[in-house]
Amino acid sequence: MLNWSISGKTKLCGVIGDPIEHSMSPVMYNAAFIELRLNYIYVPFKVRKEDLSKAIEGVRALNIKGLNVTIPHKIAVTQFLDELDPLAENIGAVNTIVNNDGILKGYNTDALGFLQTLLEKGIELKGEKVVILGAGGASRAISFLLAQRGANLLILNRTLDKAKECADRVSNVFQREVKALALNRQNLIRALKEADILVNTTNVGMSPNTETTLVTSDLIKPHLIVFDIVYNPIKTKLLMEADKAGAQTISGAEMLVWQGALAFEKWTTLKAPIELMRKKVINELERREN
Ligand code: NAP
Repeated sequence: MLNWSISGKTKLCGVIGDPIEHSMSPVMYNAAFIELRLNYIYVPFKVRKEDLSKAIEGVRALNIKGLNVTIPHKIAVTQFLDELDPLAENIGAVNTIVNNDGILKGYNTDALGFLQTLLEKGIELKGEKVVILGAGGASRAISFLLAQRGANLLILNRTLDKAKECADRVSNVFQREVKALALNRQNLIRALKEADILVNTTNVGMSPNTETTLVTSDLIKPHLIVFDIVYNPIKTKLLMEADKAGAQTISGAEMLVWQGALAFEKWTTLKAPIELMRKKVINELERREN
């Protein structure tokens, strides 16, 4: 239960996406608003692709303070905003919108949340060989950030053209080579022999398909850091395989919390209660797994 009464002063935040029924965000943000005794409330909105521009007009008309944006709108939404933060502009995707007196500004806290998760663990990226599986929206954000931090990137994707497009986008900005190959066993074996960090940005392993993984333990060296950005389940099949191989693992749940904390700070200008948000996310994911 919320511990304040909704009033004319309540600020509304939310998330738009389709599907949206399984969103973790309301639990995470409402707990944070309560913790800091803020008169804010967070709700999910199911918005179909064809209704996106109307939804953004609605944000202005209803004076909604902040939004998260998720699948399938992260790229399309950029055209309806007034301003883009330079990182979001370079990535070409937005997952957080702030409404400053009718001016809608887009940010990409997915990328920053990914980075923060690594920094928090003291993982350096400069010169590291990183293999990224997938070339969708999340890969776009993560590959940009990794290149910006001086990592050497190889993107493997089921659809080769999309891997090349993602790699070209990053290499054009940073004037450095980003390799792109088809995602197949032979390329995986070769890539993982050399890699320092493996990042899965595909949907593979995501609930309800929890028994699937693109990489098995026989391909994982103990020195590899394996980051699966899928957060449901917390321990994906890929992370279990990495455990078996003795490698360090990082769950997408950690990135989910950081991207949320950074969005919270943009809306409220206050420091997010990160430990509480983490606890709420883990509890909710564990509840859903049982
Ligand atoms: P997206 O744009 O739809 O991209 C999906 C990617 O997965 C594409 O590269 C796609 O390959 C690949 N893929 C899907 N099914 C596959 C399969 N069976 N085999 C091989 N590749 C497959 O999605 P997204 O926005 O990037 O999100 C991807 C995942 O990241 C989702 O699970 C999402 O929940 C998670 N995510 C987590 C966070 C976090 O905070 N932890 C943040 C953002 C996203 P093709 O190009 O060949 O279709």
